[in-house]
Amino acid sequence: MIEIRDLDFRYGEGDFALRVPELVVERGERVALIGPSGSGKTTLLHLIAGIALPRAGRIATDGVALPDLDDAARREFRIRRIGLVFQEFELLEYLSVLDNILLPCRISPALPLNAAARERAVALAHGVGIGEKLDRMAERLSQGEKQRVAVCRALLVAPGLILADEPTGNLDPDNKERVLDILIERAQQSGATLITVTHDRDLLERFERVIDFRELLS
Ligand code: ADP
Ligand code: MG
Repeated sequence: MIEIRDLDFRYGEGDFALRVPELVVERGERVALIGPSGSGKTTLLHLIAGIALPRAGRIATDGVALPDLDDAARREFRIRRIGLVFQEFELLEYLSVLDNILLPCRISPALPLNAAARERAVALAHGVGIGEKLDRMAERLSQGEKQRVAVCRALLVAPGLILADEPTGNLDPDNKERVLDILIERAQQSGATLITVTHDRDLLERFERVIDFRELLS
């Protein structure tokens, strides 16, 4: 599903460099990614999603080398096949909860915004305990509620790859379990690969494999 070899990435500004000699994640694997703040975990997810582009090396996502595609094709691939839970949520503040969850369908002409999509959005929202707030503007949500909207949006299209960047970072213990339950359950239902960045050590046992960023880079 994901294959990285001799990857080299730099930001245009600053002196941060990310080098990953090798990383292979099989289809359907459930992986936790741990490591210190600032080590490049978010950057790696962005590389896998084709948001950031490497300077050198190979990176393939579901057999596709995203850096070889043009911007539009990369974006379409991302919307249709990757569910990305951003660390900073990236919600549209002036849209409702429901419309934020439905955003992939609003953006991609290939994803119909029909009754089935709405039903799925509503079911996801109920599953993470925000079903009563579907009409509320995102700007009027707590951090923990925003985080759950971001998780629902990532799961809307039942993507083959779910990348979740600290998806439980703003949640109380009960909601942590709930959000992780739904991520794992939905990943299993669609045979999706799940990569989750987390600092919650007590959640690690829910994953088949734990990758420590410090070992990955060395
Ligand atoms: P982590 O997710 O592990 O906390 P990040 O991937 O967010 O780490 O960041 C890795 C490093 O890259 C940090 O030193 C950070 O300051 C730097 N960085 C992140 N985004 C940018 C950017 N847009 N431009 C320049 N440097 C950045
Ligand atoms: Mg991060």
